[in-house]
Amino acid sequence: MSLLDHSALELGRLIASGEVGVREATRTALDAIAAANPENNAFITVLEEEALREAEQVQARLRAGELSGPLAGVPAAIKDNICTLGVKTTCASKIMGDFKPPYQATVMERLQRAGSVNLGKLNMDEFAMGSTTETSYYGPTKNPWDLGHVPGGSSGGAAAAVANRECWYAIGSDTGGSIRQPASYCGVTGMKPTYGTVSRYGLIAYASSLDQIGPLARSAEDCAAVLDLIMGIDPRDGTSLDAPCGHLLENLSADLTGKKIGIPVDCFGDGLDPEVRAAVLSVADVLKGRSAEIEEFQLPIMEYVVPTYYIIAAAEASSNLSRFDGVKYGWRAENYEDLTDLYNKTRTEGFGSEVKRRILLGTFVLSTGYYDAYYNKALQVKAVIKRAFDDAFSKYDLILMPVAPTTAPKLGESLSNPLQMYLSDIYTVSVNLAGLPGLSMPCGLDKTGLPIGAQLIGPALGEQKVLDAAYAYQQDTTYHQKTPVGGAKE
Ligand code: GLN
Repeated sequence: MSLLDHSALELGRLIASGEVGVREATRTALDAIAAANPENNAFITVLEEEALREAEQVQARLRAGELSGPLAGVPAAIKDNICTLGVKTTCASKIMGDFKPPYQATVMERLQRAGSVNLGKLNMDEFAMGSTTETSYYGPTKNPWDLGHVPGGSSGGAAAAVANRECWYAIGSDTGGSIRQPASYCGVTGMKPTYGTVSRYGLIAYASSLDQIGPLARSAEDCAAVLDLIMGIDPRDGTSLDAPCGHLLENLSADLTGKKIGIPVDCFGDGLDPEVRAAVLSVADVLKGRSAEIEEFQLPIMEYVVPTYYIIAAAEASSNLSRFDGVKYGWRAENYEDLTDLYNKTRTEGFGSEVKRRILLGTFVLSTGYYDAYYNKALQVKAVIKRAFDDAFSKYDLILMPVAPTTAPKLGESLSNPLQMYLSDIYTVSVNLAGLPGLSMPCGLDKTGLPIGAQLIGPALGEQKVLDAAYAYQQDTTYHQKTPVGGAKE
């Protein structure tokens, strides 16, 4: 058995007891990455020497008794839109060039404080815009379950690396599903926490009112442990919440007595693959076995969520991305005549077409004359969506629904039809619009052997409820332990 077959928490225990050294664990992961990356391209940057050096430092802190957390010494990998001090951070975009942030994101500081080791920076859709990790300037990541399929996106590198046993957990970001959907396509557990609970300081912004950082790991238990490390108020993030957090792991409980779980029938209609529908509904039966009450209800917002999300996300993106002009950050076009030409050429050559599409759409919906018709309208509908969830959570502790309408599409299939790709975000984007916690967990395989994910959504700050239900489910099932056969493993 390889060290990589252990969960993050199991590895943490082996390290704490001294049975496994931090360097040994780091070396094992680096070897797995070196073997797999030429095929699946999950990493943009691998921090070979740096990780081994960090491992020695963490080991010394463990020896000195300075580290006691359950994940001390467990290496992790980080999505490449999270700023890492002195380490190239690309957002998978040409325009970032060799940008090396002069500061550390808050999540990185917190992970380091807890004795994590950074293995490297993970591939993603350019600026986190996409659902397939195919828009990366560094080439697509491939799904380790079948290299002919996408891993999902935008945190596709993170999901692929965890699924393919290249690391024990990864840190991703989710603006409209970018943790949950790739977790679903790659058969891992991923969670987007409540907006404001994890600092966005050092997360390169896509749509600031929707972006949240969160973990991708092998189980709900591992996700709880990672969230305990990264959640918490941060004065450097103006939208950071002063809410009680931590202790998710120690409070984890598989007893769902008295918990009511709602199933929105509107999310199981047309367009949902029958195999996905059956697998997600079978989760309800398992949760019933743990004493949860299950009830169907109407969530009559589904036709609005995708257009509302794409208007708001594009509007914020167009504003956030205006800073990339070749002057202060990253890459600059080589030949230009004057300042305007420098801006034009740098942005024309530096951004990929999906990012340009978003900037154009966002600029349009914010422009005079269209602002009220589109952007303001979208904000109003966002409030309606939030109210629909408030109503649901006045009756239910949790909502169970699919993560995506299908399993992972083939490489090349989605980009040819961007509108179709946007529509596939239907089950994830409303959670960001309402700022809620959502988790994706493996609940089956389709007939071609690709993973299916189920989504659990909780009320704001209901992380514990979400994790408890996922933990309960994972006590009674083994889908989360399955690993890709074939693909990069062959
Ligand atoms: N697929 C969605 C988009 O392209 C979500 C991306 C994300 O969550 N970062 O906007």
